[in-house]
Amino acid sequence: MAASFDSFGLGEPLLKAVAEKGYTSPSPIQSQCIPAVLAGHDVMAAAQTGTGKTAGFTLPMLERLRHGPPARAGIVRSLVLTPTRELAAQVGESVRAYGRYLDLRSDVVFGGVKVNPQINRLQRGADILVATPGRLMDLYQQKALRLDRVEILVLDEADRMLDMGFIRDIQKILALLPAKRQNLLFSATFSGDIRRLATGLLHNPVQLQATPANQAAPTVEHLLHPCDMDRKGDLLSHLIRSNDWQQVLVFSRTKHGANRMADRLIREGMTAAAIHGNKSQGARTRALADFKAGALRVLVATDLAARGIDIHQLPHVVNLDLPNQAEDYVHRIGRTGRAGHNGHAISLVAAEESELLRAIERVIGLSLPRQEVPGFEPKVLSAAPLDLSGGRGKGGRRSPAPHGARHRGGRRPSGSGR
Ligand code: AMP
Repeated sequence: MAASFDSFGLGEPLLKAVAEKGYTSPSPIQSQCIPAVLAGHDVMAAAQTGTGKTAGFTLPMLERLRHGPPARAGIVRSLVLTPTRELAAQVGESVRAYGRYLDLRSDVVFGGVKVNPQINRLQRGADILVATPGRLMDLYQQKALRLDRVEILVLDEADRMLDMGFIRDIQKILALLPAKRQNLLFSATFSGDIRRLATGLLHNPVQLQATPANQAAPTVEHLLHPCDMDRKGDLLSHLIRSNDWQQVLVFSRTKHGANRMADRLIREGMTAAAIHGNKSQGARTRALADFKAGALRVLVATDLAARGIDIHQLPHVVNLDLPNQAEDYVHRIGRTGRAGHNGHAISLVAAEESELLRAIERVIGLSLPRQEVPGFEPKVLSAAPLDLSGGRGKGGRRSPAPHGARHRGGRRPSGSGR
């Protein structure tokens, strides 16, 4: 896997946008896909949501498009087809984010909303058009766009498009495209139908297989305790005392929060310290040495302070707050359960953190088992679509979270893009 985004030959405007997203290294699918697309190959990728596939096709697509003449009236230069309007909107969002320093026009069209504004916008053409198949055909029939100049076609979540009955629309669309173009096909699964579609569509494709961008260490037992924001300190203190944990690393999102938590535990008679960017290197090194030696029972750290420090095989890691970046969750729990030792990764999660939780569960590819702690049951419950309670009162494991309409990795039908 390439170590950095710089090595692919993506232009400065794209690297800058990637840096602003906070990505430090490409995911496996990105490392494979970006060079293949830049080289002009067709691609067939087994990749599901959470692998970073969107940036995998969007970044090289934008790089190629930026070197050609911009779209003229009514012309579409690259077409991304998605099964649902939710996915179209999300891909469109990614295209805007990665393309923010480029002079390329992108647009998103899907059904269920008025067609006239879409027709008006498309008069100017689009360098990138993200669309659901049904609405794209409507627009084409109304002569709102031309598809005979498409340079790059992306079919995203192709299996789901077939499941949703879009095959006829897709075939009609394919017939409108120029013969010479680049084709990228992404699908979570490869049934006979998908293979048939791929055979007719792709020319000598580079075949890629994605693994989830970040795989959590298998020996770690994850657990999520739903809890109100203002009771997290109480709950952490309770967990340490009632379980008699002797060495626990706690992650806090803020320096202030880390200080406050350490101070509180000290007041309660525990040995604790906080490490973060405002502490001197000396203080950090000392705290770490004491913690490793067992002289310090609780170490409360921010992500930055913990990065790169060598503390392995910790029995307990607690997320007092969820990290802002989903991949930091993986880094945090990478501190526990190493080398065959069992570890516990415990997250105290408030309703306000539902979005972060969803992102983390997507990246690690599993739903964290929910378990309420008696006496700390949350009063504030998260709004749909993410149910933090996980079957209140039953505790324990459960099947993946009901992501509802925004779930896009699974196979369940949701609103069609028509
Ligand atoms: P996707 O599989 O394209 O839906 O992406 C899943 C999630 O991973 C999204 O929230 C992306 O923002 C995030 N992501 C994509 N690429 C990277 C990367 N290289 N590093 C960290 N996060 C990423």
